[in-house]
Amino acid sequence: MDLPLISRAQENPEKIAIVTPENAFTYGDLLEISRQIATCLLSNSQDLQEQRVAFAIPSGFEYVAVQWGVWRAGGIAVPLCTSHPRPELEHVIYDSQASIIIAHPNFEPILLSIAQEKGCRFLLTTEILSTQETSLPEISSDRRALILYTSGTTGKPKGVVTTHQNIQAQVTSLIDAWGWTSDDKILHVLPLHHIHGIINLLTCALWSGAQCHILPKFDAEAVWTRIGQGNLTLFMAVPTIYVKLITAWETLPPEQQKALSKACSQLRLMVSGSAALPLQVLKKWQDISGHFLLERYGMTEIGMALSNPLNGQRMAGYVGQLLPGVEVRLVDEQGQLVPSGTPGEIQVKSPGVFLEYWQKPEATAKAFQDGWFCTGDLAVVEQGNYRILGRLSVDIIKTGGYKVSALEIEETLRTHPDIKDCAVVGVEDEEWGQRVCGALVLHIGSHLTLESLRNWAKERLAVYKIPTKIVTLDDLPRNAMGKVTKPKVVELF
Ligand code: ATP
Ligand code: MG
Repeated sequence: MDLPLISRAQENPEKIAIVTPENAFTYGDLLEISRQIATCLLSNSQDLQEQRVAFAIPSGFEYVAVQWGVWRAGGIAVPLCTSHPRPELEHVIYDSQASIIIAHPNFEPILLSIAQEKGCRFLLTTEILSTQETSLPEISSDRRALILYTSGTTGKPKGVVTTHQNIQAQVTSLIDAWGWTSDDKILHVLPLHHIHGIINLLTCALWSGAQCHILPKFDAEAVWTRIGQGNLTLFMAVPTIYVKLITAWETLPPEQQKALSKACSQLRLMVSGSAALPLQVLKKWQDISGHFLLERYGMTEIGMALSNPLNGQRMAGYVGQLLPGVEVRLVDEQGQLVPSGTPGEIQVKSPGVFLEYWQKPEATAKAFQDGWFCTGDLAVVEQGNYRILGRLSVDIIKTGGYKVSALEIEETLRTHPDIKDCAVVGVEDEEWGQRVCGALVLHIGSHLTLESLRNWAKERLAVYKIPTKIVTLDDLPRNAMGKVTKPKVVELF
């Protein structure tokens, strides 16, 4: 039996699967090229038997063909972040104990030297096709398929292992909830080493027999140009991308703005996730595109868990309700269920939940409580919808006996006329336990003193929530997924 993804592709080989700025590729092309890659990988064995194959390839057809080739050869795919510097690439390659590295020629200098140091087999994408006839191994669905490294927002990225079964569950849940069909055409501009890009967009599209229009990297102008060309049904991105698209749109002449707004209205769905969506961004995007962004919540370890509805009322500031096949509970610090309306840690059970942190049995065991995965995120249910209050480790600030949500304070501070963006953190303090501190990005030409900010905030926030220290920055520190790296913000204080 072939993997379901492969069997489904075989049903419609002539259909277009991947469209890049230069070319279009059918499901048949994907099947043929991934078979050749698998054959090349299997030149000295019949089955990779869960060997890790790390690869650095720009987003596009080659990337997908390699990923499928690794799966068809029985390997575990370890996609590398193409924008990471050498030490981070090394961390992933060493940690995953990859035995094979595949690189696009752009990445040859760094990756060849890492491969030589580690004794890995090294292959360039220009030399991985083999037209030999070999039979590919049977892949059972409980095999390990993928190691994705977490975004590294709170510490060193952890290798999250999912099986083919886990991936199937993650993907079919979203296809069901968001109504994916083979008629869909998604514009894909996210990195492919992260769950958002590889599962929610790429694999959902290919599982559905849909078309995936891939841009090699995010570029606001290129995205608008592509949206303007029409013939798309779906778009998904992280909040920072929506912010950049808004900024780019605002610089355009009015006729062009109008034309692009009209082009947006032809899409059936636009989704935001991976970090909290600021309310102002939601509103502004609605003004521009007519779309009330569908916000959802998930993580590398669990796939997606909560989502606003495809049809029906979406609530600003909320991540909605349970996705199909997912169970969620909220618990207190003792692991007891919290009463309705009380904040608690999100715990998740679903067939999409990962198998293990790679080679970290203790960390894996610690992450589960009675079979529930502990997300480390705090949430509350209001009017039947989940609201994310933030990460227990960095967003929930314990100050003077209160527990406050940095995300809520940030949402308020962003309504200040001088503040463009901000990140609020708790900084260790003898007197208060933690002190609320704010890193601010101001609009060009703005000046803001701590005193004037505090005066303004007094009208809007309880006094213990108001930052007692601020710094101003040109930009917040962010990782490759555009998420604010709060430990780096804490260091500023
Ligand atoms: P690391 O685990 O390495 O610190 P990370 O947690 O950012 O990085 P991911 O798995 O990419 O790695 O991100 C999952 C986290 O992103 C969730 O645990 C949650 O904190 C946050 N998140 C995802 N979606 C949302 C959302 N809609 N609103 C708020 N937070 C979100
Ligand atoms: Mg995490």
